[in-house]
Amino acid sequence: MSEHVIEISNLSRRFGKKQALSDVSLSVPEGCVFGLVGENGAGKTTLLKHVLGFLKPQQGSVRVFGLDPVADPPGVLGRIGHLSENRDLPAWMTVRELIEFTRAFYPKWDPVYAEELRMMFELSLNQKVPTLSRGQLARAGLLVALAHRPPLLVLDEPSSGLDPVVRKDILDAIIRTVVEEGRTVLFSSHLLDEVQRVSDRIAILDQGKLLLTSPLDEVLVSHYQLTIRFLEPQPFFPQLTGALMWSGSGREWKIVCNGQKQELESELELMEAEILDQTAPTLEEIFVARMKSAQRASAQE
Ligand code: ATP
Repeated sequence: MSEHVIEISNLSRRFGKKQALSDVSLSVPEGCVFGLVGENGAGKTTLLKHVLGFLKPQQGSVRVFGLDPVADPPGVLGRIGHLSENRDLPAWMTVRELIEFTRAFYPKWDPVYAEELRMMFELSLNQKVPTLSRGQLARAGLLVALAHRPPLLVLDEPSSGLDPVVRKDILDAIIRTVVEEGRTVLFSSHLLDEVQRVSDRIAILDQGKLLLTSPLDEVLVSHYQLTIRFLEPQPFFPQLTGALMWSGSGREWKIVCNGQKQELESELELMEAEILDQTAPTLEEIFVARMKSAQRASAQE
């Protein structure tokens, strides 16, 4: 088997006039926690649906465990635990029935682990699915996605609907178990602090285009935030190599930058500007900076 559990090459998808995915290529190595981020409508769910074989690539290819998920649904879906964006669980079932029903599909179902998860998620066996709150629905969906110990978990916004305290405990517990066992997680989220906390690799999607895919460490070290002071007040921010986003006015500005710092430092020296402070931006600050920079570039096209 390939060491990449998922390989996506030049994937494009259009819905009518809407280009939901545009020439996206990325791979997810085995044992990795891969966070997919992007604004609403960026194409995250569409990408996950291709991984699951629910959508057929219009262009490009998708391989999961080396297989085509559209051509071989049992070979792929049997090895994936999936939590969908709208948690579509059968409405007429109780939690007990949901567990028993799902168990029947998976020979590797682990009843002891399922019960551990049910206790951790505080789900009552007799509660009916339609009476579950959004947070409880997410937990029930996670339970049935996890309890057959799949080698790959595909989670669409797993924390959506969970309150912040529970969210941290649950997501951390899941990810720890899964990764300790050498399994792989691909999840989408718009909670950047959460993505930063648990991911090994990330991808940023913007209007269907891949802005970046990289190990998280590399993303964090290749971006930096500077506070700079110019000799004279600047009516607008000057063009500087690698500057993605800036805020401030007059002489003092804060910038988020990417890439080689030397070139930027020489430019600042020529302008007689001094660096007052340098800090490491969070993933959220990097994300916002990359989005702003992409928006500026597309406005100029
Ligand atoms: P969100 O964070 O809001 O869930 P997302 O990043 O998951 O967004 P997608 O759901 O993949 O984004 O949608 C990408 C784009 O494709 C959106 O503009 C959406 O309206 C459009 N789209 C997705 N599915 C369909 C469909 N079945 N028919 C028409 N348009 C669709």
